[in-house]
Amino acid sequence: MTTADAATTEAGRDFIRDIVQADLDSKKHSVIVTRFPPEPNGYLHIGHAKSIALNFGIAQEFGGRCHLRFDDTNPTKEEQEYIDSIQADVHWLGYDWGTNLFYASDYFERLYGWAEILIREGLAYVDDQSQEEIRIRRGTLTEPGQNSPFRDRSVEENLDLFRRMKAGEFANGARVLRAKIDMSSGNINLRDPVLYRILHATHPRTGDAWSIYPSYDYAHGQSDAIEGITHSICTLEFEDHRPLYEWLLDKLPVPSKPRQYEFARLNITYTLLSKRVLTELVRGNHVSGWDDPRMPTIAGLKRRGVPPAAIREFVKRIGVAKANSVVDVGMLEFCIREELNRTSLRRMAVLRPLKVVIENYPEGQSEELEAINHPDDPAAGTRKIAFGRELYIEHDDFMETPPKKFFRLSPGTEVRLRYAYFIKCREVVKNATGEVVELRCTYDPATRGGNAPDGRKVKATMHWLPAAQSVPAEIRIYNQLFLKPSPDAGNFVADLNPQSLEVLPDARVEPAIAATQSQDVMQFERQGYFVRDKDSTADRPVFNRTIGLRDTFAKEVGGKG
Ligand code: ATP
Ligand code: MG
Repeated sequence: MTTADAATTEAGRDFIRDIVQADLDSKKHSVIVTRFPPEPNGYLHIGHAKSIALNFGIAQEFGGRCHLRFDDTNPTKEEQEYIDSIQADVHWLGYDWGTNLFYASDYFERLYGWAEILIREGLAYVDDQSQEEIRIRRGTLTEPGQNSPFRDRSVEENLDLFRRMKAGEFANGARVLRAKIDMSSGNINLRDPVLYRILHATHPRTGDAWSIYPSYDYAHGQSDAIEGITHSICTLEFEDHRPLYEWLLDKLPVPSKPRQYEFARLNITYTLLSKRVLTELVRGNHVSGWDDPRMPTIAGLKRRGVPPAAIREFVKRIGVAKANSVVDVGMLEFCIREELNRTSLRRMAVLRPLKVVIENYPEGQSEELEAINHPDDPAAGTRKIAFGRELYIEHDDFMETPPKKFFRLSPGTEVRLRYAYFIKCREVVKNATGEVVELRCTYDPATRGGNAPDGRKVKATMHWLPAAQSVPAEIRIYNQLFLKPSPDAGNFVADLNPQSLEVLPDARVEPAIAATQSQDVMQFERQGYFVRDKDSTADRPVFNRTIGLRDTFAKEVGGKG
């Protein structure tokens, strides 16, 4: 992001906010009303967060209101579980619709009545063609479509058939209601679009009351008009639908005339933001569920420990534009680290433990050392860590025959144990297969707190835990779900990263970590940010790595600048 971009978003302005401001200045509107209109056919993802922040953000900033409206017009794909999760996720992100919770299904009666008006005015007709015939006759971008043989039915016949469609007399797909616009229009959306289809399905809210359901294009704009939406903000793929949106508002006796504005949807590298793909990831058991911490869903990000403030900051930084682009996932990770570095308490955990015995420390003795909770926030205080004869260090922090630039523990070298003492490795203990299983070390009692009175220096400070006073835990490390910067949405299984989840079953954590709740993200010193997972049991806590401390991913895949 350039400095200029940052400055524009800092001021919180973009082309949509400029339009809103101009409409207030010209007194076109006195109250701004926006809406977020999810279809309850899946969980929300971070792309939706961009739309949520935009719609709710504009309402907040300009003193208006934002409605949450479920676009529940397709009962075969929609479920109460999704309705509930969407509400929970919008709240978790920090936004509130107050009393303005609506459902397109609340308007089914009115939408139906307006469809009869279109029929009476000769602007809609019942078509008996199959979906396939309709598709073939629709034409292409270069060829005009052909009129349906049913296009010139009389108003009476159309009304009769439409009422019988409603009454449930016909099978699914037998007929549709279409707007009568122009089969030769350059805009395919105006080639007699479908307004109603027959669907014998039980709706989560209206039950079996309806056998016909309105199309998105028919329901959406009219719902906006009923609710008095002033600015109907959607993603760019709806730009070509705008003439139809306006045609319907123009022909129907709707109570208000909303305007539609389009912005670029969010795309992120190494990520697929499509409900179809996310649904298939869940159904195909490629992930553990909608809230799998590798998923770009709000529920997944939450479970992973990403704070809502980091998501809000991310969508603020990327801004709102009129041209599609792909945002580097590093930008999201940067926002997560910034927020967590500020807010999370420091703790010590050993992910891959290696036992250390301090030979000159008396058996049966232990002492308490003081550790700070946050280096930049003295008010966060300190805690006690027990030190004794038996400890754990990180396996990676020891090498028996180190290369030149390895400054951590190896036979003969001296290192500092954070908050504790200098130690030196004297002997390496191996098992029958030659693996290092234990280190025999000595400590210097004069270096308590981590400094030598004679001023001698060490080149490494390592985290550690006392063997007796630490708690066994499972730690889950997450990597990108996809291997490629632009995974193939059509064949995403081929691009899945087989190493997206790494489980460390034998980790150790300090007691203060074991005692946390799922919303407390902690920094495990030198390792990253971690949060307790819901899979934890009373005797075995599980922690998810939210994110590592540094952007090592760029180096690993070599893909980013
Ligand atoms: P998907 O495209 O992921 O399958 P959708 O657009 O079908 O999702 P809806 O429930 O219709 O899902 O979306 C609700 C709102 O969120 C719409 O206004 C849509 O434009 C917006 N939205 C969806 N995906 C994105 C995205 N990636 N970036 C920004 N806004 C988005
Ligand atoms: Mg949609």
